Amino acid sequence: MRTPLVVANWKMHKTGRDALAFVRELEPLIKEITDVEIAVAPSFTALPIAADAATHTRLVLAAQDVHPEREGAFTGAISVAMIKDAGATAVIVGHSERRRLFGDTDELVNRKVRAALAGEITPIVCIGETLEERERGGTNAILDGQIQHGLDGISADQIAAMVIAYEPVWAIGTGKNATARECDEAHQHIRGRLRQWFGGVAADQCRILYGGSVKPENAHEMIGLPDVDGALVGGASLDVRGFFAIVSKCRSQALGARP
Ligand code: PEP
Repeated sequence: MRTPLVVANWKMHKTGRDALAFVRELEPLIKEITDVEIAVAPSFTALPIAADAATHTRLVLAAQDVHPEREGAFTGAISVAMIKDAGATAVIVGHSERRRLFGDTDELVNRKVRAALAGEITPIVCIGETLEERERGGTNAILDGQIQHGLDGISADQIAAMVIAYEPVWAIGTGKNATARECDEAHQHIRGRLRQWFGGVAADQCRILYGGSVKPENAHEMIGLPDVDGALVGGASLDVRGFFAIVSKCRSQALGARP
């Protein structure tokens, strides 16, 4: 049984003060929720403030990225030890904005995943195709390559405990979410590959989130699908009520349908 997970990716939004206000407003709303895991990924500067506000709550704190090296001359970079020190227990790796704007390759994603695992931080590994790749029928091949290279050398036990986010690039921040069918096909494909390459236990336990223009109005389309274990939410996670509405959809839609 996989516990559904909803992650707020705030990207380059919210100062420490904003993050504090968000966590304080969210906390009473989610206090009694034990059947869905809820995480927020603030900026590096807001992370310790949000983590501090979330002490003694069930809210999970994630960083939005990490550098693969433990320490050294990497001006501007943040290590696994630093995000842990700031209160993170998870980290988003390979987000398409990192891949597109900052040059993160599958090889770099793999190094970041390994670094996170070595530091006992849960990687939330983002994969997904561009519109051009989808239109030429290359979606599955792109996903295969990202899984194969991004998760190279990772053990079945580690796969079981990590999170994969299927985020079609064309759906991120565009307002155009994947249809239930597109989402279902991609998630089934990803879980099938995990089964083939890492074994049944890893495939059954690894949580696969959908991300890409998830909003309170459309969350039910994706979240109720059998291979969708929750959502990675960008724009709609900036507003507490909107984010909480998605968490609530996840509870009512996903829980009944779990195997
Ligand atoms: C994201 O940034 O991971 C994301 C899915 O963004 P949005 O929900 O805004 O499409």
